[in-house]
Amino acid sequence: MKITSIKGFSDILPEEVGTWQQVEAVARRVFTAYNFAEIRIPIVEKTELFSRSIGETTDIVEKEMYTFADRDSRSADHAEGTKLTLRPEGTAGVVRAYVEAEMYKVEPARKLYYMGPMFRRERPQKGRMRQFHQIGAEALGRGDPFIDAEVLLLLNDFFESLGLTEPTLQLNSLGDAECRPQYREKLLAFLKAREESLCANCRRRIDRNPLRALDCKESGCIEATKDAPSILESLCVNCRDHFGTVQRLLRETNVKYTLNPRMVRGLDYYCRTTFEWTTAQLGSQSAIAAGGRYDGLVEQLGGPAIPGVGFAMGVERLTMLLKMQESAANTGPSLYVVWVGEQARDWAFPLVHRLRKNNLNVEMEGEARSLKSQMRRADKFNAVSVLIVGDDELAKGKALLRDMTSKRQEEIGLDGIEAELLARKIG
Ligand code: ATP
Ligand code: MG
Repeated sequence: MKITSIKGFSDILPEEVGTWQQVEAVARRVFTAYNFAEIRIPIVEKTELFSRSIGETTDIVEKEMYTFADRDSRSADHAEGTKLTLRPEGTAGVVRAYVEAEMYKVEPARKLYYMGPMFRRERPQKGRMRQFHQIGAEALGRGDPFIDAEVLLLLNDFFESLGLTEPTLQLNSLGDAECRPQYREKLLAFLKAREESLCANCRRRIDRNPLRALDCKESGCIEATKDAPSILESLCVNCRDHFGTVQRLLRETNVKYTLNPRMVRGLDYYCRTTFEWTTAQLGSQSAIAAGGRYDGLVEQLGGPAIPGVGFAMGVERLTMLLKMQESAANTGPSLYVVWVGEQARDWAFPLVHRLRKNNLNVEMEGEARSLKSQMRRADKFNAVSVLIVGDDELAKGKALLRDMTSKRQEEIGLDGIEAELLARKIG
């Protein structure tokens, strides 16, 4: 019997890997420009790390984590009752590593990024997997609004570098320990008055986590919270100043954004600036990247009181968007050499070899096929250009170069063709 992959866990096949590598390469380049350094953290952590940081009443911790007891319960790390969890996100692990390695001792301000698989037991659908991939960044040790803006600019540059016109930025502030409790009470009173319209989930956690109702996707909750009080009207002076500066910096750097006071994010650790980059092109799986400020998290995980701000983006959704906007790099060969006749073949073979040595991605057939069949294959392989050469052309000292996108064709002399093709930077 055939063994298949697990529901919600999928392969990234060679046809798609090019886009993934492109995304990762652009991310590394942009992160480096903003002085972020890579950190690689484990995929498995103690369950407590996530329940304590993400929050006991969040969807992730309540129902989405892959948690198990390790077989070896003798070692201290795996003592009776210590459960392990496949990481559902990266921030908790990065902050744990920052505290554990005492990175703050040398200098609290550290900019870190990571990329890799995350695991959440959700209902699999388009853009929602059980194993998915995130690229994320955390700027630790800085509480000033300039770093919030910097993180948003980084994302803006990243999307621009990929040639994307979407996603767009939605921005909110969740206040801090001074002003959020008051807002919470105000919202709670508002929700209690409409409790019967809320879904069972929101009703259950209304007292512990009333803000979650604003984030609920159930139509009843959306309707009931339509006129809920806005958190932006409850911000204290410091939070208002902070948020005002973030917005000013975005305006000055021409980053467009929309204020969304309903966006509360599904994790407990956020405060002040929170954001989501969303697109209208992927249906209800609209969030490409999300994040915000988490000033209490380092302390909550046993470190000193050090602020932080960060984000994570979903690579599956990003590559889907890239494909839809057709701006992903062509993954086929830059040049496909189509030959007709043995002389042409023997002329082409060493040329292909020399072009490859110059890092041009070139492909050619070994067996004789008709011109039409080779052209079809060039198309199928997504070649950027095709060089067509037959015995006749060879005798005349020229070949045809066809651009597969514009379908334009031109003659090209065989003398110095190698330098010519390389100079054109085909592909
Ligand atoms: P959503 O509202 O779509 O469930 P989220 O708020 O749970 O998103 P975060 O925890 O903020 O998402 O994760 C950041 C990003 O990771 C999301 O914006 C999304 O692009 C991606 N992501 C989250 N969960 C999944 C998943 N199950 N499958 C694929 N991508 C995901
Ligand atoms: Mg989610």
